[in-house]
Amino acid sequence: MKNIFWFFPLSALSSAGANARPENGHDQYTDKRANMVEEQIKRRGITDEKVLKAMSKVERHLFVSDEMKGEAYEDHPLPIGSEQTISQPYIVAYMTEAVRLMPEDRVLEIGTGSGYQSAVLVETVKEVFSVEIIKGLADRAREGLKEMGYTNIEIKHGDGYSGWPENAPFDAIVVTAAPREIPEQLKEQLKVGGRMIIPVGDLFQQLYLITRTEHGFEEKTLLPVRFVPMVEEKGTG
Ligand code: SAH
Repeated sequence: MKNIFWFFPLSALSSAGANARPENGHDQYTDKRANMVEEQIKRRGITDEKVLKAMSKVERHLFVSDEMKGEAYEDHPLPIGSEQTISQPYIVAYMTEAVRLMPEDRVLEIGTGSGYQSAVLVETVKEVFSVEIIKGLADRAREGLKEMGYTNIEIKHGDGYSGWPENAPFDAIVVTAAPREIPEQLKEQLKVGGRMIIPVGDLFQQLYLITRTEHGFEEKTLLPVRFVPMVEEKGTG
């Protein structure tokens, strides 16, 4: 739910001191993360081992400001600045499982935001391309993910309605902002057999799973959700 407007200066994020970890890799967040996976994700029915492993590994607290780190593993979305949010952990896991990823897949994400979903995706596939319309968020996510050692995530500042034609077609597309209708251009960037998960609607949104077949597209609604709107740039209709 978008109920608060937050803004964090870029320098408040990913400061080395706050992210420092002891040598054995066990820090104050390790147990919280394990607990998040057990209580919020496994308990609600996510079973794909690849997804559970990725959710256990990616350090969600590194994707939020210092002020928010204490809440990083709680069961709700969090503000990431510029009036945007990092999705609830369960939704990230649910979407990642629903597109049935394979290790060799190339995935397009629309709405990089904090870069958290990109990191979860890339833990299960070969390559992730992500498009973000707010330059400050795109730059910050690119820098943060690079610092974390990810080399197979490419982030572009631009309008996600156009997808990323130069790198298409994709095995999967994960859209993390809600358009009013399913953008045709994104469907066209799916491989045959490719899957897209996307929240669609305005106040009332549904999560859709779209599969490209040899004959066209199959659409299935999965569950009601609430995402930030997928904004339309002026002049793009
Ligand atoms: N996946 C993100 C959550 C993103 S919130 C995470 O893990 O943190 C949705 C994001 O979509 C916001 O950052 C917003 O700026 C972006 N967005 C909204 N409209 C967009 C558009 N037309 N193209 C690309 N990104 C868009």
